[in-house]
Amino acid sequence: MTPGDNTAWGELRRREAWLWLAFWGTIPVGITAGMLLGERLLWVVMAWLALVAYRATLLFKVRCPRCGKLFFRREYYETYDYSNVFAGACLNCGLRKWSDSIA
Ligand SMILES: [Zn+2]
Repeated sequence: MTPGDNTAWGELRRREAWLWLAFWGTIPVGITAGMLLGERLLWVVMAWLALVAYRATLLFKVRCPRCGKLFFRREYYETYDYSNVFAGACLNCGLRKWSDSIA
């Protein structure tokens, strides 16, 4: 991944990297905040977890480079949809993640 990655998968790579950085950063941030802030640790951890949730939301909004629909979400009916952020392929058209060919 490079900052200037403008390939079809660049946005997905960036959003996944930020989500996992935020997710795995929870423990060191919590430990550091606990040592420095004592009982105010709770507020820092809650804010950090809100950041993780925000990054996860951004990842769910990535669109498939082939079909243009949400990559990790499929609507079956107006009232039911399926989401899987660990999906290895587009839930709408089946395009494999990181595929060289998007045609
Ligand atoms: Zn697709």
